[in-house]
Amino acid sequence: MSGALPAETRVLIVGGGPVGLTASTLLSQHGIPNVLVERRKETLRAPAAHVLRPRTMEVFDRIGVGDEVRNAAPLKHLDFITWCTTLGGSEVGRLDFSAASPEGLDWTNCPQNLLEPILLRRARDESSAHILCGAQWTRLSQDEEKVRAVVRLEDGDDHSIETAWMLATDGAGSPVRHGLGIPMIGPGPQGRFFMIHFEADLRPWIEGRSGPLFWLMNPESPGTLIVHDPARSYVFMTPRFGTPDEEDTLPARMAASLGVDASLRILSVDAWSPHVQVAERYREGRVFLAGDAAHRFPPSGGLGLNTGVLDADFLVHRLAQVEAGRAGPETLDTYEAECRPAAETNATDSFENLKRLAEIVQVLGHHTELAALESRLASLSAAEREQLDRAIEHQRSHFTSHGRLPRDPRTLTD
Ligand SMILES: Cc1cc2nc3c(=O)[nH]c(=O)nc-3n(C[C@H](O)[C@H](O)[C@H](O)COP(=O)(O)OP(=O)(O)OC[C@H]3O[C@@H](n4cnc5c(N)ncnc54)[C@H](O)[C@@H]3O)c2cc1C
Repeated sequence: MSGALPAETRVLIVGGGPVGLTASTLLSQHGIPNVLVERRKETLRAPAAHVLRPRTMEVFDRIGVGDEVRNAAPLKHLDFITWCTTLGGSEVGRLDFSAASPEGLDWTNCPQNLLEPILLRRARDESSAHILCGAQWTRLSQDEEKVRAVVRLEDGDDHSIETAWMLATDGAGSPVRHGLGIPMIGPGPQGRFFMIHFEADLRPWIEGRSGPLFWLMNPESPGTLIVHDPARSYVFMTPRFGTPDEEDTLPARMAASLGVDASLRILSVDAWSPHVQVAERYREGRVFLAGDAAHRFPPSGGLGLNTGVLDADFLVHRLAQVEAGRAGPETLDTYEAECRPAAETNATDSFENLKRLAEIVQVLGHHTELAALESRLASLSAAEREQLDRAIEHQRSHFTSHGRLPRDPRTLTD
């Protein structure tokens, strides 16, 4: 349902990314009236997350979109993770997952920009939900009974809404978390990066080593290539140095990193920095943080969205018990007790994954030119090759670990 907002509801959700949208449908399935406000008018255009883990897919199956998400994932075979000098250059090594199952890794590799419209359509299908895009939460007050929130509508008017509970799923910069004065604990920006979404058909260089990630080690222009759709959609991530007019250099840097004769069309460029942080607390009175609003990880491990969907699953289950009168409000404290330690472990593990990647560079030594790296690779002794293979093998858990997961709330008796 969309259109004019009601004056009251049981749950107000601020933020319509994957976590807020999932929370809305879960609440609706319990028959709990909910309102979701999202400040963007449209869902995400550039893909960010793509790794969906089995427990996340279980939640998506439960809300009835699992198969749609699986069918929307363009890359079905996740057989290899590859390190190379450039996409068209020498291969440094690969992790082989092809023996694990017919599809390789147990991820569903659905780009976030294809996932969000599926979740939005599903949330809108429910009569208990009221979804409004282009509307921005601005402030709140609360007492023991209610939260009173103000939402700025697209025409600039302010709309007041009373709600029993509020979920802040408003992302890493969470205005709600800031408004509540909840600090983030843990290391801040770990470098700066560009995320370049581009269109190209790189199948000639991908085929035979199908997989979601290629680490491009060209010292003149290093980066990571994320394969969202081999026939057309890729993301290239590369360090951001902050030099004047740096964005103008990106097409040349990308071409050097890929090293292939293919036509590329840049669709969007975003700047971002990985953090390793978890909110000091997940709750302030009747307001709960979930998803990136509660935790920010480096993408190494693909745990951010997955952890957030399981936050929503746990929290909604507990809210439903309270709303139905089957449990007292104190049961809501189990949300932070269960989900915050999981986020802390996943933050640390994602950071460890990021740091461990350096082991591969250490074996090869530091070079400033592509030609020097190519000749180093060509002249590796048998012992050095073995060391390099070991360093690559040491990255395996980066891709196979599911992180620390909260227990399924349906199986708990406390
Ligand atoms: C390059 C990259 C790769 C990644 N890969 C993975 C991966 O493979 N797997 C994985 O699990 N995670 C991955 N992530 C992380 C993942 O993208 C995030 O964890 C995920 O988007 C978090 O979802 P969310 O719903 O909590 O927040 P968001 O997706 O950030 O959504 C928050 C929403 O809140 C809205 N909002 C903000 N303020 C307001 C307001 N005042 N009023 C109303 N609405 C508001 C925003 O517009 C936004 O739509 C990756 C991230 C990056 C950058």
